[in-house]
Amino acid sequence: AAKHEGRNNFQIYEVSPEYALQHGMALKTRLRHAEGNGELRVVYQPQVDAKSEDIVGMEALVRWEHPELGMISPAVFIPLAEETGLIVSIGEWVMRTACLQAKEWEQRYGLRLRLGVNLSAVQLMEPQLLDTVARVLRETDLDPALLEMEVTESISIKAVPNLVENLHGLHNLGCHIAIDDFGTGAASLDYLRRLPADRIKVDQSFVRNIGVDPDDEAIVRATIEMAHRLKRAVVAEGVEIEQHLQFLREHGCDELQGYLFCRPLQPVSFDKLLAERQRLLEARVAEPA
Ligand code: C2E
Ligand code: MG
Ligand code: MG
Ligand code: MG
Repeated sequence: AAKHEGRNNFQIYEVSPEYALQHGMALKTRLRHAEGNGELRVVYQPQVDAKSEDIVGMEALVRWEHPELGMISPAVFIPLAEETGLIVSIGEWVMRTACLQAKEWEQRYGLRLRLGVNLSAVQLMEPQLLDTVARVLRETDLDPALLEMEVTESISIKAVPNLVENLHGLHNLGCHIAIDDFGTGAASLDYLRRLPADRIKVDQSFVRNIGVDPDDEAIVRATIEMAHRLKRAVVAEGVEIEQHLQFLREHGCDELQGYLFCRPLQPVSFDKLLAERQRLLEARVAEPA
């Protein structure tokens, strides 16, 4: 059943997780050809400064646009890509596409936006990960300091033998590391202690309960405070309503990401957003004092 997530067509997922389960094999076969057939897309969601609400970064999110099945959510096909090992090549494609795009916007708007790219556990196990990232950075000429790898906290440090080394390696390349979905895994504090993380992304399940569940509010406050004591920055995910914004701002959250500001956008729409921002800035500068 189609689930309408928003005004944009690319938000409509024709394939439900139930369907995917029943047709997993067929989807896996099709997924093998997705990259070669040009069916993958990258959409970008802005991250804004909590105080100024100015855009400071963006997260690259992959989409699969199948000619017959429609838009397929990463929640459905990333697990299939992981099972088949296709995630290694899909992940590299997403990274290269997003780095190229970030470089293009940097040149067009003179704006150094941070670029978040999600990494799967399977990629983090790869001994070639560092070579791949270094090559993509070289080929796209993006400043490594603008690239931030998002590592979800559900990845077990024990189960992924290369995880700690690979993340230190990425750090040595000059990339930043963000812990995604913070608070949902069983090992949040262990992650903080052992991984070279620059940023924590508070999971949307906590943000959603601001104004609803005082315990979750306390967790959000404590996470922000702990992160700051450890000299890490904090981004809140899934900021949907004004009340979330007020709370997060009041408690010193650094950056915000969510539908309240913007949904993930196709490159052409994101470009319009940046052009409009620049137009407003220039108009402000041109105003008589
Ligand atoms: P994530 O990395 O935690 O990404 C945030 C998800 O929250 C995205 O879902 C985004 O569209 C959604 N989101 C953003 N703002 C809001 C909001 O205000 N409310 C709600 N309810 N949702 C919001 P999306 O794009 O469907 O991606 C789901 C997950 O799939 C991602 O979670 C990430 O774990 C994975 N994923 C996406 N792209 C990639 C990729 O290129 N590689 C890998 N390995 N995983 C990816
Ligand atoms: Mg993420
Ligand atoms: Mg997340
Ligand atoms: Mg997530």
